[in-house]
Amino acid sequence: MGTYNRIPIALEKGKGSWVWDKDGKKYLDYTTGIAVTNLGHSHEKILQTINEQIQNIIHTSNLFNIESQAKLAKILVENSFADKTFFCNSGTEAVEAAIKLARKWGKQNGNNYKIISTLGAFHGRTFGSLSATGTRKYQEGYAPLLDGFIFAEYGNPDAIKELMLEEPICAVILEPIQGENGVIIPPDGYLKKVRELCNENNILLILDEIQIGLGRTGKLFGYQNYDIEPDIMAIAKALGNGIPCGAILAKEEVAQHFTPGSHGTTFGGNPLAMSSACTVIETIVEEDLLTNCNSMGNHFLELLDTLKNEYKEYIKEVRGKGLILGIEFFNKEFAKKVFQVCIDKGLLLILTIENVFRILPPLNTSIDEVNYAIKVINESIKEVIQDG
Ligand SMILES: *Cc1c(COP(=O)(O)O)cnc(C)c1O
Repeated sequence: MGTYNRIPIALEKGKGSWVWDKDGKKYLDYTTGIAVTNLGHSHEKILQTINEQIQNIIHTSNLFNIESQAKLAKILVENSFADKTFFCNSGTEAVEAAIKLARKWGKQNGNNYKIISTLGAFHGRTFGSLSATGTRKYQEGYAPLLDGFIFAEYGNPDAIKELMLEEPICAVILEPIQGENGVIIPPDGYLKKVRELCNENNILLILDEIQIGLGRTGKLFGYQNYDIEPDIMAIAKALGNGIPCGAILAKEEVAQHFTPGSHGTTFGGNPLAMSSACTVIETIVEEDLLTNCNSMGNHFLELLDTLKNEYKEYIKEVRGKGLILGIEFFNKEFAKKVFQVCIDKGLLLILTIENVFRILPPLNTSIDEVNYAIKVINESIKEVIQDG
């Protein structure tokens, strides 16, 4: 069905940060399948894990114990704020689970069900997560949506405070960095202030770390940059490095509201996804990818700053944290042309909200690759300017 405007390239092979199309043309892949292949393509440890797992068993359902699921839960709990985990298959399912859990908790805590979300947010495409999404274009034609979502300006804690005073609320949901909305980084202290407001009013804080979790900001989880903890966190995208996989993590006090039969999934947490996810997190630690993410991210951002100074009339802003980076252009048409030239020259990026390049390298990218990306972007901008 016509749900995608696809780039007319079919990628057939990938190794590390690089991919090849069916004509053998090589590209630097700084899309990582939209923040999914954080360890790069065909990572040896992932291949080995998946290969071994499929020889043994792929799927059993949650009728039975799944040892790799328990192992992943343990790894996640030991490395985060959480006491409990629930596994699913995608980001939107993780957000659905978070909404359901927050509502269950809300029933027992003041009987409130409303959730504050933020304008510009992206939380997914199923009805619950779509209702939580603060961008009209995704919702067009689907009314009536799920009841109970109200929206505050992103980056402004006072806007959230105002809504808390006006309405009975059970949770706030937000992304520590808005990815789809163009790599929007909130002002310093925002998350901390929102956390305080939630504490003062006995409201849950749900963080959607589906895009920025699992190392992308230079910490294993984004919230760890801000000296706060959520009550519920949704992760997905990079969790299986390409094997579909999602999860919510929660504190015991909240998680206990899910009881046998109150939520579930057929595929979620299956042995293939779980074993891959265990290897993803172990590899992030073993190969010290957070350190690499920070140093490559800093280097990248410095080069982007230089680029911005060189093309002041064309680039409005550059921004990033770790290896989620954005270049905001003044002009949509210009951005689109540069984007196309980058592809022609062998660099894949994401064009989001029409005038922002969202750059999502694998966490183990090298300095040569970052330099190559900057060179291609620089040459592409130059070429588009020259062509008028
Ligand atoms: C991608 C994304 C989702 C949705 O994930 P899917 O796996 O596509 O359902 C939700 N929230 C954020 C922040 C995302 O980046």
